[in-house]
Amino acid sequence: MNINFTEEEIAFREEIRHFLAEEYPADIRRKRDEGIELTPEDTIRWQKTLHKRGWFAVNWPVEHGGTGWTPVQNYIFANEMARANTPILIPFGFKMVGPIIYTFGSEEQKQRFLPDILESNVWWCQGYSEPGAGSDLASLKTKADRGSDGDGDHYVVNGTKTWTTLGQFADWIFCLVRTSSDVARKQEGISFILIDMRTSGVTVKPIITIEGDHEVNEIHFDNVRVPAENLVGEEGRGWTYGKVLLQHERLNVAGVASSQYRLNRLKETAALSVHGGQPLIENHNFARKIATLEIELKGLEYTELRTLASIATSDAPGPESSYLKILGTEIQQSLDALMMEAAGYYALPYVPTQYDLDYPDDDRIGVGAQTKTSLRYFNNRKASIYGGSNEIQKNIIAKHVLGL
Ligand SMILES: Cc1cc2nc3c(=O)[nH]c(=O)nc-3n(C[C@H](O)[C@H](O)[C@H](O)COP(=O)(O)OP(=O)(O)OC[C@H]3O[C@@H](n4cnc5c(N)ncnc54)[C@H](O)[C@@H]3O)c2cc1C
Repeated sequence: MNINFTEEEIAFREEIRHFLAEEYPADIRRKRDEGIELTPEDTIRWQKTLHKRGWFAVNWPVEHGGTGWTPVQNYIFANEMARANTPILIPFGFKMVGPIIYTFGSEEQKQRFLPDILESNVWWCQGYSEPGAGSDLASLKTKADRGSDGDGDHYVVNGTKTWTTLGQFADWIFCLVRTSSDVARKQEGISFILIDMRTSGVTVKPIITIEGDHEVNEIHFDNVRVPAENLVGEEGRGWTYGKVLLQHERLNVAGVASSQYRLNRLKETAALSVHGGQPLIENHNFARKIATLEIELKGLEYTELRTLASIATSDAPGPESSYLKILGTEIQQSLDALMMEAAGYYALPYVPTQYDLDYPDDDRIGVGAQTKTSLRYFNNRKASIYGGSNEIQKNIIAKHVLGL
C-alpha cells in the first residue's frame, strides 16, 4: 500500500482546505470549537453548504449524486473535515436509508426520496431496535399487516421502536417490521418499510440519557396505516437489506480523523493543565498513556485505509467493519477518559449557560469548553453499544473471520 499522496491528491486536499476557509460558517465553527451545542438548523445549514459544493453524499455513486471519489479521496476529505472540526452530519438519510433506496428501492422511490436526502430537506431516523430486540434484532415484534384493515394497498403497523436517535426531529423513519410470523427462521418474514412520522398513530416519547440530554426516543405505532408502495424491495427480505446498512453504519463509526483531532486537543489541554507544579503532558505516566493511544490510533488508521482499499473492489464492507467499530470506539472512549484526567476539576461543573455563545472563556483551561468534558464522557458510553454492541462485533469476528 502506497502511503504517500500523489500530486493530484495533494491538490485535492488544498481544494478542500480552500473550501473550508471560505465556506465553513464562522458562527458554526465557533460553536464547534467552544463545545457549544449546535441546533438542528446549524447542522442542516452545513449539510446544504456541502451539497451545494457537491460534497455531501460523497459515498453515493455518481449517477445518484455522489462524487465517485477514490477511497483515498474519501479519506482525505474525512480527515480535512475532522481537522477543521466541522459538524457531525446526520447519517440516517445519506449514509443509511439513501444507499438502501438506491440499491434495492423502486424507480419511483428513488425519484421520490433521494433528491430530498441529498438536499437535506427531510430528516430521517432509524427504527430497528425494540424494547425486546437489540442485539437479538431478529426477535423484533413490530408487526406490519397488509390488508388487515380490508385495504390491500396498505400495511397496518403496530409496535414500539426504541433508542431512536434524534427521532424528535424526524420527518420519516425507516423500519424493520415483521410481515410474517409463519417462518422457519426468525430472520425471515422481516421487511424494510418507510413511514411518514406525521401519520396518525405515531407517537414519539423522549428518553433522557445519563448526562441529561434528549438524544434518543421511544416511538410507538398504534394502527399506523402505511401505503404498500413504501415497502423497499421485496416483502420478507428486510433482514438482508438491514444487514447491508449496518455494515455501512459500523464502518462509519471508526472515526479515525475525529479521534486524531481530539488527540491533538487532549495534548493542548494536558500542556495547559498543571498538576503538582508540572504540566500534565510532562508527567511520564500521562505521556505514556497518550503515546499508547497515539500508536493504537495509527494502527486503526492503517486498518481503515486497508479496508477502504478492499471496499473499492467489492460491493460492501464485510466483517472488517466489525473490528473497525470495536477499535474505533475503544479509542474514542479512552480519549474521553484521558480528557477527564487532563481537565481535572474543570471537567466537573455543569452550568447550562456555559453553552451560550456569550459565556466568558476565562474560566476554562484555555482551549475551549472543558466543562463539556464530563457530559461528553457520559454521553459517549453509547459508542460501544450503538450500531451493534462491541460484544456482538466480537461474535461476528469469531464466526466470519476466525471461523470459530
Ligand atoms: C445512544 C444510542 C443510540 C441508539 N440509536 C439507535 C437508533 O437510532 N435506532 C435503532 O434502531 N437503535 C439505536 N440504538 C440501539 C442499539 O443498536 C442497541 O442498544 C444495541 O443493539 C444493543 O441492544 P440492547 O440495548 O437491547 O442491549 P442487549 O441486546 O439487551 O444487550 C445487553 C448487553 O448484553 C450483551 N450481549 C447481548 N447478547 C450478547 C451475545 N450474544 N454475546 C455477548 N454479549 C451479548 C450486549 O453486548 C450488551 O452489553 C441506540 C443505542 C444507543 C445506546
